[in-house]
Amino acid sequence: MSHSEILAASGLTEAELTGGTLAVHTPVDGSEIARLAMHSVAEADEMIATAHEAFLQWRTVPAPRRGEFVRLLGEELRREKEALGALVTLECGKIYQEGLGEVQEMIDICDFAVGLSRQLYGLTIASERPGHAMRETWHPMGVCGVITAFNFPVAPWCWNAALALVCGDPVIWKPSEKTPLTALAVQKICDRVCEQFGDDAPKGLTQVLIGERDLGEALTANPKVALISATGSVPMGRAVAADMSKRLGRTILELGGNNAMIVAPSADLEMALRAIVFSAVGTAGQRCTTLRRLIVHEDVYDALVPRLVKAYAGLPIGDPLAEGTLVGPLIDQDALSAMDKALVQAQAEGGTVHGGGQALAESHGAAAYVNPAIVEMPGQSAIMHHETFAPILYVVKYQSLEQAIDMQNAVPQGLSSCIFSTDVRETELFLSAAGSDCGIANVNIGPSGAEIGGAFGGEKETGGGRESGSDAWKGYMRRQTNTVNYSRELPLAQGIKFDI
Ligand code: NAD
Repeated sequence: MSHSEILAASGLTEAELTGGTLAVHTPVDGSEIARLAMHSVAEADEMIATAHEAFLQWRTVPAPRRGEFVRLLGEELRREKEALGALVTLECGKIYQEGLGEVQEMIDICDFAVGLSRQLYGLTIASERPGHAMRETWHPMGVCGVITAFNFPVAPWCWNAALALVCGDPVIWKPSEKTPLTALAVQKICDRVCEQFGDDAPKGLTQVLIGERDLGEALTANPKVALISATGSVPMGRAVAADMSKRLGRTILELGGNNAMIVAPSADLEMALRAIVFSAVGTAGQRCTTLRRLIVHEDVYDALVPRLVKAYAGLPIGDPLAEGTLVGPLIDQDALSAMDKALVQAQAEGGTVHGGGQALAESHGAAAYVNPAIVEMPGQSAIMHHETFAPILYVVKYQSLEQAIDMQNAVPQGLSSCIFSTDVRETELFLSAAGSDCGIANVNIGPSGAEIGGAFGGEKETGGGRESGSDAWKGYMRRQTNTVNYSRELPLAQGIKFDI
């Protein structure tokens, strides 16, 4: 498919794609593919006011009926899967299969949320007072602001939006300024769903804000936005947390990762090899769950690392829309410079670099194609504590599992982690309280590619938020404790008696 065919299939009109001031480039060849009109902060405030009005109506629509809205959204996404998947690839540069995979995750979370809409269960609680009933109920929270990053332009919106919508919260989305087209295309799909759904869908149930970080700040500043779910870098998360804490608003933060794999002496090395390559170079190293640190037992180091270096040398790097490509481009030239800088620092810290550097420079204009790099490090030095958003895999040796777990936990981030081992004592230790400190800990599977059924998120600088499956829905609702006195007495707390 050509770039113009992908844009034509996106449903976005010529008028929408041109005439504005926000230039959108495709990482495929670096060329400009659109110039979008940006919203002003004043318009953002108006849209938030509309979303709040929508909340007042949507919160009274029964949850299973709200689930029907999300079911229709899932159906539309099924129909649009190829067109939207290709637009994801064009706009953010991940390979087409991954573009399709992102849309599939949207469909999956819609299915999950439809079931959830009939299961927003509360509790009944035993009261200590005679003739009293206690319960806990869950109510819609308010407008949910969703801020997203360039590397997953659509799926994280849906992990949030599908839950928020069944929970009774309208959604207002601030996508990355690097990937606004996919957000506009999704909003068009939502507009169609609203039409199908009828009057129960209030105006402004889902909206998109096109522009830069000032629009994200407009969301965090506005008390009518009850909840912000923000996906992106740690500095962005710190800024959002600080702004939200000023008004004590609720946040779900999904920030940077620095994910590790421990390869133990008993590991199945064939499986480990495939898992390493997939999770370290997939999406050109631009996933929050990308494998960045490989901690290998000294007994298997020589059997594994040279094979890995060889596998890297044969990776199909190229146009992400072309069949057979496994590594597409980085998002832009800044990302390429950051990668180069990290490799220079790694060398200065004693690392031996295999690979790295620009690939396909001549045939792809301003695009940033790179050779993924493996860096053998003498120990876990300063650069390894930092998330460089590029395909760099640092490799270190370990002697004891305790030492490996200490190394794995010694970085500021805490998103995803894994161990390759067939020794149950080792794997259980890794999953125990004394094991990995991450939000995701896997055994014999890499750190990336989480399923929507589990809660997704991580600890420490990753922000502590959870979205997607399990009971993450509770983050989008307010909890209420109810006590009902059905007796003819009024027993007061703490045995206090008022004689009136
Ligand atoms: P980024 O932080 O530069 O931007 C993310 C979004 O935040 C953009 O929409 C941006 O406009 C907005 N933003 C920036 N500053 C803001 C502020 N002060 N207030 C409100 N909004 C603001 O991130 P990026 O470069 O697009 O994405 C890469 C980063 O995202 C990596 O660190 C990656 O690990 C992380 N990420 C995390 C997850 C996760 O689930 N943990 C998923 C994907 C990406």
